Amino acid sequence: MLNEVQKKEIHKLLLKNALDYGKAKKENVISKIFYKFPELKLDIKTLSEYLDKQVLEINMLSKKQLEHEASEFLDLFKKEAQEKAEKSSKHNFTIEGAEVGKFMTRFPPEPNGYMQIGHAKVVFTEREFADVYNGKLALYFDDTNPEKEKQEYVDAIKNDLHWLGIKYDLEYYASDNIELIYSNAEKLISLGKAYACTCSPDEVKKSRFDGVPCKHKKQAIHENMDLWRDMLKGTNKNDIIIRLNYDLKAQNTVMRDPTLFRIKIANHYRQGNKYTVWPTYAINTPIIDSVKGITDVIRSKEFELMDELYFYILDLLNLRKPRIHTVGRLEIKDNLTSKRKINELVKQGYLWGYDDPRLVTIAGLRRRGIKPLAIKEFSLRFGMNKSESKVDISMLLNENKKLLDSHSKRLFYIGSPLKVEVKGIPENKKSVKLKLHPSTDLGYRNYTLSNIFFINTYDANNLIVNGDLRFKDLFDVTIESITKDIITAKYTEKTSTGPKIQWVNYGNLLQCKLYEVRNLLNGDEFNNESILIKEGYVESYAELLSEGEVVQFEKTGFFKLDKKGEVPSFISL
Ligand SMILES: [Zn+2]
Repeated sequence: MLNEVQKKEIHKLLLKNALDYGKAKKENVISKIFYKFPELKLDIKTLSEYLDKQVLEINMLSKKQLEHEASEFLDLFKKEAQEKAEKSSKHNFTIEGAEVGKFMTRFPPEPNGYMQIGHAKVVFTEREFADVYNGKLALYFDDTNPEKEKQEYVDAIKNDLHWLGIKYDLEYYASDNIELIYSNAEKLISLGKAYACTCSPDEVKKSRFDGVPCKHKKQAIHENMDLWRDMLKGTNKNDIIIRLNYDLKAQNTVMRDPTLFRIKIANHYRQGNKYTVWPTYAINTPIIDSVKGITDVIRSKEFELMDELYFYILDLLNLRKPRIHTVGRLEIKDNLTSKRKINELVKQGYLWGYDDPRLVTIAGLRRRGIKPLAIKEFSLRFGMNKSESKVDISMLLNENKKLLDSHSKRLFYIGSPLKVEVKGIPENKKSVKLKLHPSTDLGYRNYTLSNIFFINTYDANNLIVNGDLRFKDLFDVTIESITKDIITAKYTEKTSTGPKIQWVNYGNLLQCKLYEVRNLLNGDEFNNESILIKEGYVESYAELLSEGEVVQFEKTGFFKLDKKGEVPSFISL
């Protein structure tokens, strides 16, 4: 049963949700409810039924009724929004000119590869702003390069966003808007602001480099228009491009009559063979951003030179201009994000694939055992900082460890086994129940012990005959003999002092494989020791772990169970 305080809070949350999004949705408020009233997790069914009823009622209200119902909370909502904005500004989370309630930004991947940490940083920043300013985030696929783009990448990007916990409010594709771009192209041509050029790619490159126009720049408008129509009809077999008619001597080389359209006869993953004339990023982005209602663009520094072109095109077309905000690009030291280079390493067999745990692709980070929340915390640290950051991966790993510490089961792992035979273990000491975490209640592991144990060879260095060996969380034994292959000992009731040693028991162990992940590169070279494979014994409890689960091997570190099977494999974190 829910009490009045809980009911009132739920009512308030649902009203707010309905006001923000037009309709209230159960899944939008449930985590907030749990955050406030964790005890409700015990009876999710009652809560869920109650919510369904309330959602239905609230969604039946008209906008006016809704506002009336919410009137007593309006001040509170305002105060909460203010507090949220202030909290975010502490992370340098303000954006010039942005307005609460009138904010829309977009994440613009090209579906020609997989997402990596740099993309995650941008999209987390965008999502944060969309929340702070009570606005929207759009997912925009910039897909007008048919030879390189695939549905597989669209799916992978969406899958990565889902895993990261990024919600977007709408989704659209450049390739669905080709006609719109065409009509704007005609406008530019008829204004004399774009021309058709049949120079070879090398000639174009040279003319841009030398700052010397080609003969086509002076072509009459009607000639450009004819060539443009030929392009669209596919009648002219010559390679024609449409270029912006600006200035080949422009200081900003991006402005030296860039290509706006080119012919590409290839099957497009989404549009099939519908088009052969494809717009470039240079013209797509400003037009689509403007038309779709984007108010604020956040893009990383390498695009800074494009800003002038972006605004110039919108000026020519008399279209509304979004604001552009530049953030520094994020790179991870001794790692790679270049698709081409990663492909090469995969092909040559150096890497396992795009989800290799050495990579900072989202798939790689996921495989390694990095939590989405750690990537978020890491990403938001940079705020709107403009300086380029080349950071060590340890910064992300440390963020991750903070999240793992209290939730990860602890197990013993023996990497360099030395056998210990123990005599005289009383029957009642042979059944043991050991905690899976010293302070958090994560349950127990139960074993029936045999008289053979393994400890790490290096732990045996300080052991002496007639001295004690203290098995951690178990009992002490007195040593009878030590050779390099075996220690014999006998059970003792007395407990001594001194360090306790971790162990695994012969009847309760599994052979396992550890992948120790290091930096991918050594300077510019591939690091041949970027992954080290180790073998050892782990407690048989490991059989009960699920793939993807992170455990802490005492004194060795955090590991993610990558694959189960006869010899389970773990990846270091
Ligand atoms: Zn030309």
